[in-house]
Amino acid sequence: MSANKPFYITTTLPYVNAEPHIGFAMEIIRADIIARSKKLAGYEVFFNTGTDEHGIKIFRKAKEQNIDTQKYVDGLSLKYKELLIVLGITPEINFIRTTDAHHKRAAQAFWELVNKNGFIYKKNYSTKYCIGCELEKTDSELVNGRCPLHPLQELEIIEEEN
Ligand SMILES: [Zn+2]
Repeated sequence: MSANKPFYITTTLPYVNAEPHIGFAMEIIRADIIARSKKLAGYEVFFNTGTDEHGIKIFRKAKEQNIDTQKYVDGLSLKYKELLIVLGITPEINFIRTTDAHHKRAAQAFWELVNKNGFIYKKNYSTKYCIGCELEKTDSELVNGRCPLHPLQELEIIEEEN
């Protein structure tokens, strides 16, 4: 047989603004089942997970607890890593953190390429933002002027030059 066909699978990278919850356990167990079955079928599997450590919610949580942001994300990322052992996830899994040096280098290379090709320009920008979702919201997504997933939270109006 020639070289095994490559197969790539990743989970979402959860924001580390809280400890892992059952939803992430469900996601990673499903992905693990797929990764293992593909490996048994002869594929060269690259199985990825990790933590997204950049976000305003994370920054605010760290501030709230008066902890250095890097220390805060280090502690929570470790809990996600420990969860892999608790759940018996395949040990060959790749765990990436968005604060890893190689991730930062890749992100910078991407933005440099985008800039080099002229896709970065300045423009004024105003949007409604739900901190709960960490997402901008369009009017068509709102119910009575609020995020349907976070109806008790006020939307923030973000205006800036980007
Ligand atoms: Zn929301």
